[in-house]
Amino acid sequence: MASTTACSSGRVFRCFKWLERLGDRVTGAAGPVFVTLAVVMIGTGVVCFFDVIQPGLPFRWLTTPLCLLIVFNLFMHYYYVCTVSPGFIDDPPHTPKSGLMWARKRKSAARSKPLTGVRWSDGTTITKATMSKCNKCATWRPERAHHCRICKKCVLKYDHHCPCVGLHNERHFVLFLLYLVVASYCFVAFGWTYVLTALGWFDIPWLHRSPPIAFLLIYILSAVLGLAVTVMAAWHLWGIACAETSVEAQDHEHYRKVAKGRGEDFVNSYDLGKRKNLELFFNVGKDGYPLWTLLFPFRVEPYTDGHSWARTQGLERHKGVRIGEELTDEEEEY
Ligand SMILES: [Zn+2]
Ligand SMILES: [Zn+2]
Repeated sequence: MASTTACSSGRVFRCFKWLERLGDRVTGAAGPVFVTLAVVMIGTGVVCFFDVIQPGLPFRWLTTPLCLLIVFNLFMHYYYVCTVSPGFIDDPPHTPKSGLMWARKRKSAARSKPLTGVRWSDGTTITKATMSKCNKCATWRPERAHHCRICKKCVLKYDHHCPCVGLHNERHFVLFLLYLVVASYCFVAFGWTYVLTALGWFDIPWLHRSPPIAFLLIYILSAVLGLAVTVMAAWHLWGIACAETSVEAQDHEHYRKVAKGRGEDFVNSYDLGKRKNLELFFNVGKDGYPLWTLLFPFRVEPYTDGHSWARTQGLERHKGVRIGEELTDEEEEY
């Protein structure tokens, strides 16, 4: 009986794995299609907004630049998510850049002495990452790097692939989600009176260039997408506040169980408290970039080069999980 169960669960696992591989192949091949579709959808939404809703907004001297700023952030962050390398292990070493789109660091940060591989680290304990060999591409990689099955390479602080998100573009990914939430809510909140006009409830003629049906479809899409992306953004922000990537959130769940089985508590050594974790992720606050850099689509260096990590005082590694108990990329696939 037990062997039958084991056999059938093995089959279920294999089936899942096959489906996952198929999903990977489809996602990998359809990546450019998804990207084009997203740009077309967001672009249509923006055109509809500026054609129908924006001319009727109050205080246009204030609301017009604000709306333009949201649109600018939306497109630029998406562009960066798709074009900035997430931090592949074989990328050439990252050097601090400057230019029109690069934010300037705080004066205090500019004065502080840069440590090897870590730009701003005053008041934070930074320790060198442990190295391990990837058993898929055989490269040596620092902790928090994982192998992306679609890119077939190891990525620094790998989060997920859709497109590939890691250390160097994760900030753009999260800000894109947040600006998408804001944009969808603006569309839904300021557009509802036009929905009634488009449906013919009032005897007002539809005087806009966009057809009413297109406006209605975009409105429904904004409402549904707005809710879905809110959940996604909230989940990511919670992960950031807990100092966990999507991969680590799953791993830590497993480590918690292992530690609990021994009567111990699992402690994530990257967790410096919600506020500090968020500050380090967005690289703002003391010794980072000014907070207002979040309002513009600037390029910002991460606080680390991915070879050193900020840790809780006194912890060299996670508490509650022993050496050799860490999950490998294969085990994470299940
Ligand atoms: Zn690898
Ligand atoms: Zn990838």
